[in-house]
Amino acid sequence: MPLFVNLRHLEAHEVRLQGEWSVEELDIDPRDEVIQANQPLQYDFEVQQVEEGLLLQGSLRMALDCQCVRCLKPFQYHLDLQTWACHVPLEGEERAPVVNDCVDLTPFVREDILLEFPRHPLCDPQCRGLPKMAAGRAKKASGAGRTEVGSPAWAELNKLKL
Ligand SMILES: [Zn+2]
Repeated sequence: MPLFVNLRHLEAHEVRLQGEWSVEELDIDPRDEVIQANQPLQYDFEVQQVEEGLLLQGSLRMALDCQCVRCLKPFQYHLDLQTWACHVPLEGEERAPVVNDCVDLTPFVREDILLEFPRHPLCDPQCRGLPKMAAGRAKKASGAGRTEVGSPAWAELNKLKL
């Protein structure tokens, strides 16, 4: 079911929309085999009438089943837009269609949530830099090891000299 807001209701007061959208309702095309949208989108936002349009403000949350592009491990990615805001124009060329005083907000929410999908999902931010970081650690460790080995050796030499 599309998410409609009635403009007549908005004239009197702000409208709060809260609920869940199934993936079928949102009609999200995963497009990507490493990202699967299997769980509903949770929305909770207020709709306010502003000049030339509507202002949506609130939160969008959704869990995505992803596969890490580095290590191929499956993991859940949590989209959590706590301070989501969106302007829906009601005037001009880009204006949203109004049918029986109602505006369908679905395309705006869909577009914004799709923008937040990870491009290259990673199980952990560190997964991306793993080869580099491991090399750095190894270098540091061997360097530290050399000093540790070196110091007593020099101490021994000094003893011999004395
Ligand atoms: Zn990974």
